[in-house]
Amino acid sequence: MNQVDLIRKINDALPQTQCEKCDYPGCLPYANAIVKQGIDINRCQPGGQETIDILSALTGRPSTVPYHAESVLNQVAVINEDNCIGCMLCIKACPVDAIIGSSKQLHTVLTNACTGCGLCLPPCPTSCIDFVSVSTPNQHADHKIIYKTRYHSKQERDQKNAQKKLQKHFDFTNINTIQKTLATILNNEPK
Ligand code: SF4
Ligand code: SF4
Ligand code: SF4
Repeated sequence: MNQVDLIRKINDALPQTQCEKCDYPGCLPYANAIVKQGIDINRCQPGGQETIDILSALTGRPSTVPYHAESVLNQVAVINEDNCIGCMLCIKACPVDAIIGSSKQLHTVLTNACTGCGLCLPPCPTSCIDFVSVSTPNQHADHKIIYKTRYHSKQERDQKNAQKKLQKHFDFTNINTIQKTLATILNNEPK
């Protein structure tokens, strides 16, 4: 199997929560690191032993115990709406777009889409995000495709927004305005 196919298969075997517990910024970067840098196959916390065994079979490396003590995160985030100021920082931090809300509006977590990763917690300026336990963790099988789809659509949206900002920055009309202003200044300068 070539490297690209192996990375794809490893990525498909990972839970797709994009939780960064493996110390990589998502499942695909971790899959890349396993193949290209020889990083250990036991770092995916939500995947647990089951995922390590699959990765072992795919890579031909020996199966080993999980790097993290806990195996899954059986929790989801909830927002205390009384203290939410609508700053949107949690939306930016959530890798799977599980939070809805717009600027200066109350924000809400979509319970079915939340992986419980906790990445929204540190940026919240009012500490109004909490976690509640759920009996069935959201991390497996059916949720995988949901997380993957939501993650990729968020990545695409972030890229488009970044492109728009860049275009605005280098907008020709802005350049024309700058040129006109400069010409006016130069024309008005004492000879
Ligand atoms: S689900 Fe596993 S591989 Fe994906 S980001 Fe989380 S720890 Fe890393
Ligand atoms: S809402 Fe918070 S805990 Fe839930 S997936 Fe998004 S960042 Fe993770
Ligand atoms: S980061 Fe906190 S205060 Fe800001 S929108 Fe999210 S929940 Fe509300």
